[in-house]
Amino acid sequence: MNTATHFYEHIQNELDNIHHAGLFKEERILITPQGALVRIQDGREVINFCANNYLGLSAHPAVIAAAHHALDTHGYGLSSVRFICGTQDIHKQLEQRLSSFLGTEDTILYAAAFDANGGLFEPLLGEQDAVISDALNHASIIDGIRLCKAKRYRYTHDNLNDLEAQLKQARADGARHILVFTDGVFSMDGTIAQLDKIRELADRYDALLGIDECHASGFLGPTGRGTHEHCGLLGKVDIITGTLGKALGGASGGFTSGRKEVIALLRQRSRPYLFSNTVAPSIVGASIAVLDLIEGSTQLRDKLAANTAFFRREIAAAGFEIKPGIHPIVPVMVYDAVKAQALSKRLLELGVYAVGFFYPVVATGQARIRTQISAVHEMAHLQKAVAAFSQAGRELGIIA
Ligand SMILES: *Cc1c(COP(=O)(O)O)cnc(C)c1O
Repeated sequence: MNTATHFYEHIQNELDNIHHAGLFKEERILITPQGALVRIQDGREVINFCANNYLGLSAHPAVIAAAHHALDTHGYGLSSVRFICGTQDIHKQLEQRLSSFLGTEDTILYAAAFDANGGLFEPLLGEQDAVISDALNHASIIDGIRLCKAKRYRYTHDNLNDLEAQLKQARADGARHILVFTDGVFSMDGTIAQLDKIRELADRYDALLGIDECHASGFLGPTGRGTHEHCGLLGKVDIITGTLGKALGGASGGFTSGRKEVIALLRQRSRPYLFSNTVAPSIVGASIAVLDLIEGSTQLRDKLAANTAFFRREIAAAGFEIKPGIHPIVPVMVYDAVKAQALSKRLLELGVYAVGFFYPVVATGQARIRTQISAVHEMAHLQKAVAAFSQAGRELGIIA
């Protein structure tokens, strides 16, 4: 057998293994824009509970209009990285608008938050430095940390005692600079990081603090600025990364925000910024419109909070166990992977699209349906979903 044949057989074996383990991921094809209701390819219309469309902006008329307008005024694309000829006035405006929204000095845009995290650590931290990371941090943070030369420390998820132990260890090991980095919100449980306490600990050991705000920017905190606002830390977090691909419009794009010297160095050294194309003008124009909407009124954020409180209360009253909290990520616990899949399948038949998560996405025995609430859901959608959960849950013996 020649090398190529052997290689392709090896790849096919890997695919077969994924299938046999029951872990093969299929793409579900939608034929409508993102919204409370979506139509799937077989023609069924279902209520969507699995988009990160927290504020319902993915197909908001004002956002679409702004994207059209930017296409007309600034073109389709720039065919360039930022520093050659890929920076337009609107890119600078969006960076300024994000800085003022987040309460930072400056912001740098990336093609994705994955790139923001991937290109964050290597330029800022060297061999003498330490980075301390929550064990459940997002894959892009893990990858970004792998690419830097700093010494790596990991603390047990959301465990402040272990964080302190790691801070002590990093100091004992003689670290020059220490950066603690955590997701502001963890996407599997909707857990909000205990940022106020993390900040206190970081201060005690003279460490910097960075957060990934992908599941927070736009709606967490009284005016939607994020986890730092929610925890009373506006202006007190050193580095914030985030996405334009979730609550902030849902297209794509990411950013890193912080002190101006940090952002300036990232513009010089961050590889996904230097070697990858600029964010498309239509997305940039639309993102400015998103910030106009969010800064102009807390209406969407308030509706999301009210929808979330309603759904959490009603699904619990129906007899389901949920992960407690206030976040619009509402994990409905099933524990058993097979049952979780059956529940998701039955919900779809009943017109509710909510996916099951099981090992290895979450720990063994922690299978769940992860629902995500949106400001675009109306009361009738939420009521219909609770009724579908109740019916399917009883049929499957998950609730009494
Ligand atoms: C979604 C997500 C990302 C990646 O964002 P993209 O802009 O889609 O690349 C990074 N970090 C966290 C915590 C996320 O949830």
